[in-house]
Amino acid sequence: MLKTIEEHVRKQVAPAALRAEFRQHEFESMRPFCMLVFCVSIAIWLVFDLLVSFLGGQGFTWLSYLFIALLGCLTVVLRFTRNSHHFDVLNLLFIAAITLGMRLVIEGIPMNLRPVWLVLGVSTVLYAVSVLPVRRWSFFCAMVIAWTVLNPFYHTRIEPDELEGAMLISYAVFLSGLVIYSYLQIRQAKLHNFYLSKVLLEQAYVDALTDIPNRRSFMAKAERQLRLATSAQYLAMIDIDNFKRVNDRFGHDVGDEVLKRVAVHIKAGVDGNEFARLGGEEFAIFFQGLDQQGAEQRVRALCQRVRDDQGVPPVTISIGLARVDRGDSLSTALVRADQALYEAKHSGKDRFVLWTSQLASES
Ligand code: GH3
Ligand code: MG
Ligand code: MG
Repeated sequence: MLKTIEEHVRKQVAPAALRAEFRQHEFESMRPFCMLVFCVSIAIWLVFDLLVSFLGGQGFTWLSYLFIALLGCLTVVLRFTRNSHHFDVLNLLFIAAITLGMRLVIEGIPMNLRPVWLVLGVSTVLYAVSVLPVRRWSFFCAMVIAWTVLNPFYHTRIEPDELEGAMLISYAVFLSGLVIYSYLQIRQAKLHNFYLSKVLLEQAYVDALTDIPNRRSFMAKAERQLRLATSAQYLAMIDIDNFKRVNDRFGHDVGDEVLKRVAVHIKAGVDGNEFARLGGEEFAIFFQGLDQQGAEQRVRALCQRVRDDQGVPPVTISIGLARVDRGDSLSTALVRADQALYEAKHSGKDRFVLWTSQLASES
């Protein structure tokens, strides 16, 4: 089953909206890691700056303070960045600043050591960028900035057509290719997993026949809604009347069509409230922010809408309505709505009944 779904997902191109959602999700979950990368980068740069300043005799100048302040500010901005698009830009600013800082530190070491350290600098930057949640344009801009600012042929004594230069170019091509490949592969794999988990989640919480939320979804959402409730709410349990007869007379396929029709009516009348197919021919709605009159009006209108449906065969529904007070559990509410539904069935069907404590003592 998983293989079938995976194959289906693999064949499909992830929609643009899903890609955008993926990027945002990815950034939100990786923000602490991005902070860590920024902080560690600053620390490593500072260690090298101190080494070159004191052991190398270059001196710790105001420029070092300026870079620490600049990189620190960008890290603070990252702490408050919430949007993945903003991170794409922020990361480029950070890379521009730190590569410039690296260049200045490397300028303080002997000329013959510079090319190696410049390439080591580019390698580190590129590797770090390849694991960050940045979009393609931002990733390629980062590559261009790193190679431009830390260009090993600028201000060094090597030439591209000499042995050392040619070897460096070969290595640069190899390194860039490897980093691009791993960046694209990681992004693709992560997007694929995100898409797959979305599809699986959807299937776990949506009823396959009627395409409305299923029991699992309803229980989870209603539980949460119950916990957050500040005023009374109403739970409606809906059951199609004589549905077995529909199946027996017209066949299971027609029965399925009736279920879909009723689901459409329920969906049209919920107005933002939680609803679901609980199973078989039973549905539920959890009304929020309505008083008794409002809830009764809604369920009466729903009975009317199903009754007026011109579809063949015509069906009716019965509804049990229960008030849910703060502190009531969902299972208590379901039992009460079920008792009211039972009463609706036994008093003639095609109607709703509001639960009263009398119904509890009767059953
Ligand atoms: P009542 O008016 O008292 O509710 O009677 P009823 O016939 O609706 O209720 P009963 O519980 O006896 O029958 C429910 C039927 O729903 C039995 C079952 O075969 C059918 N059913 C359950 N799930 C599905 C489904 O997914 N598709 C179809 N076509 N029928 C289903
Ligand atoms: Mg039933
Ligand atoms: Mg029924």
